[in-house]
Amino acid sequence: LTRLRDRLARSGSPLGSALLAVLSRDSLTEDDWDEIEEILLLADVGAGPTGEIVDGLRTRVRVEGVRDPAAVRAMLRSALLEIIDPELDRSLATQRVTREDGVTVPAVTLVVGVNGTGKTTTVGKLARVLVADGSSVVLGAADTFRAAAADQLETWGARVGVPTVRSEREGGDPASVAFDAVRRGREDGTDVVLVDTAGRLQNKAGLMDELGKIRRVITKEAPLAEVLLVLDATTGQNGMTQARVFGEVAGVTGIVLTKLDGTAKGGIVVAVQRELGVPVKLVGLGEGPDDLAPFDPAEFVDALLG
Ligand code: GDP
Repeated sequence: LTRLRDRLARSGSPLGSALLAVLSRDSLTEDDWDEIEEILLLADVGAGPTGEIVDGLRTRVRVEGVRDPAAVRAMLRSALLEIIDPELDRSLATQRVTREDGVTVPAVTLVVGVNGTGKTTTVGKLARVLVADGSSVVLGAADTFRAAAADQLETWGARVGVPTVRSEREGGDPASVAFDAVRRGREDGTDVVLVDTAGRLQNKAGLMDELGKIRRVITKEAPLAEVLLVLDATTGQNGMTQARVFGEVAGVTGIVLTKLDGTAKGGIVVAVQRELGVPVKLVGLGEGPDDLAPFDPAEFVDALLG
């Protein structure tokens, strides 16, 4: 995770220098507080959390008569951390489970999100991490909408050395591919099945239908262990809108925030977690196979504050 800090720092230390400049002033005026608010908003912390943080901070600074910039910074750090909540369970389900009928089945992880956010890449990188940790993995290419998506996933599978279950034809039924992948995983005694889905956000009803069907069909075979929502950190408040919709229809258990390497807007972590109430579990830090890291709240806030 030193890399997380390095990468964020390289993308222009999101909050660091600007905040430090304000906090170094003798006493904080209304204008200074407005500036702090603006800096947090620019980093995509989101209007709600930003207001909450700045109001709390301003009150404490006044009541406790705090003057030292380092002390204000420390308060800001703990306010951010409080929202991100280091106590949340950020582990991933990787253990096989036993069904009511005594049959042991894989931990099934559904990966959802809008196209282009990095779903397929995340599935590939995650498979690599799991295999390195000694787990066996099957990939399911339930994004049957684009033929290229299944090809891309299969390439990752080959690279990582795990099988990919896919439809023979473009436009096949995503739910049946998901089912086949889970069954293959059960038959092979696989630990984890990762199911990549299509992210056509044409309308909420359509998305709900498609994901609902995939969920129903998978759970005939095995309970869903995890639903990971992939969000692109560079899309800012757009990403928040997507997060809300998927949060409502997909039963999200964790968030993967991708492309953190390419943005100074890491504050989206704060916004998304406050909004959805589910933890960010993983972050994407590049396009390569090793560019996926577990999310560490304290390291992240330190990186954000620069
Ligand atoms: P999908 O449509 O959601 O499956 O998205 P893809 O996995 O095809 O990724 C879309 C693009 O984003 C590809 O060019 C990926 O290489 C790129 N990408 C994915 N994750 C990251 C990341 O963490 N950092 C960067 N810089 N690029 C990423």
